[in-house]
Amino acid sequence: MAIVVCMSETASTEQHHCQRPGCKGILTAPESVARGMSVRCARLVRKAEAIVELTGQFKPEQLAKAMAAIRSGLVSVPEPGLFVVPSSKNDGSTYGTTATSCPCPAGAHDRKCWHLIIPIVTDLARHSRRSLAKAA
Ligand SMILES: [Zn+2]
Ligand SMILES: [Zn+2]
Repeated sequence: MAIVVCMSETASTEQHHCQRPGCKGILTAPESVARGMSVRCARLVRKAEAIVELTGQFKPEQLAKAMAAIRSGLVSVPEPGLFVVPSSKNDGSTYGTTATSCPCPAGAHDRKCWHLIIPIVTDLARHSRRSLAKAA
């Protein structure tokens, strides 16, 4: 379930939510609002990105696309494990991606599409703080 934030209030009372998928944190510090993520979440996401890069499973441009989607707040998590990612064709379509499958044209042909990076990065950022520290 997506949380609908009322936008009718003035900018000064508007709440900014952390963009890390699945994080419902509210941002208060101006630097965090500008970044779109809390300091902690931004650090976790950056480390997760580095780990995915190290695995070499995805092309650098795929990783860049996935990280751009995450950082711009385009990814929503309507339920745990399900990530709704907008198509990079910008035609308004979205894909419900999980850790193991993606319904996009590439994913349907069992190819590794960039959408699959999003569950991986999100999972790493959320669960593996100890292993993240080790990998850092
Ligand atoms: Zn957060
Ligand atoms: Zn896909």
